Amino acid sequence: MITRKPLRVIGGDLRTARLEPDPSGVKLRPSDGPPGELFIGPGWADAHAHVYDGMTEIGVAADQVGLATGVHLLGDAGSAGAATLDGLVKYVIPAADVRIRAWVNIGSYGLVHMRETADIRDVDVDATLAAIDRHRDVVCGVKVRSSGLIVGAMGLQPLQLGRLVAREAGLPLMVHIGEPPPLIEDVLDLLGDGDVVTHCYHGKTGHPWRADGRPSPALDRALNRGVRLDVGHGAASFAGDVARRAIAAGFPPHSISTDVHVRNIRGPVHDLPTTMTKLLACGLPLDDVIAAVTRTPREILGAPEPWLDEDGLVRHATVFRLADTPPPHRVYTDARGAVLDPTAHIVPVATIRNGTLERG
Ligand SMILES: [Zn+2]
Repeated sequence: MITRKPLRVIGGDLRTARLEPDPSGVKLRPSDGPPGELFIGPGWADAHAHVYDGMTEIGVAADQVGLATGVHLLGDAGSAGAATLDGLVKYVIPAADVRIRAWVNIGSYGLVHMRETADIRDVDVDATLAAIDRHRDVVCGVKVRSSGLIVGAMGLQPLQLGRLVAREAGLPLMVHIGEPPPLIEDVLDLLGDGDVVTHCYHGKTGHPWRADGRPSPALDRALNRGVRLDVGHGAASFAGDVARRAIAAGFPPHSISTDVHVRNIRGPVHDLPTTMTKLLACGLPLDDVIAAVTRTPREILGAPEPWLDEDGLVRHATVFRLADTPPPHRVYTDARGAVLDPTAHIVPVATIRNGTLERG
């Protein structure tokens, strides 16, 4: 029934629609119909994933978490550093159907080594700047994992050096937060406008939220400077109760991302729509869920792209439905095993690229 023809819709960010056969191909018919109808909006982006398959311990195949799950654009979050970025650019990115941008790890070997910045000899400021210069078209920022198990005795140094590189290169920092040391206040005080805090609702000791869901003073200051909150669900970094309280207090995430890798793709993360559904279950309205996987992550990844052209023709989009039952065998748990209980489930149905319906 669905054919590869251009689709035409009238502007807007998110609308309900029905896919209908039409003499000229498939048309999206605007609809105010009941739940179960299709929604269409810009193609989804996941700002934090790990897709350096074959090189790092944790990489998954990019296309496994790409268009098949509604995702058009992935940010690989520090799988590669100065010494390994060339391989990502040469072998992984061109082989993938999904578009990939890269956060360069301040640790030269990226996530080949899971304590990538525990040794100062594995951080090379000039080599990282040179790698960024070689791949300006791919690199969206600098990644630093700034938590105790990773940095060890290096403390704040990887973050300070990552910040130096990011500022020198004119790019944002993405900072992984987790267990101290370093203290979260010291981490946040180093961040500025456009930088991204990933694992923002991690819920471990020393997280930056008060019991009433409002940000700690250091996070409040950071947000006022323009720092952005990214979910980065991961295997151990998303606490549903922390997210629920923060959202209720008026502090939703700027971007929803998976931190998908081999240790969480079979649960609790699965994919981006599962993570989106969890945020919906934590009280984030659907429009905000969609903005957090479209407009904002595209800005963060330095790849903004209008989804409609001037004539209203769809350039890129993800078509999805809200199901009232979960996909088969899907249990929605946070990273601590707490069950979230969504009443609606976001299920991708099709993607449209270059005006062409690619899956349906
Ligand atoms: Zn990650």
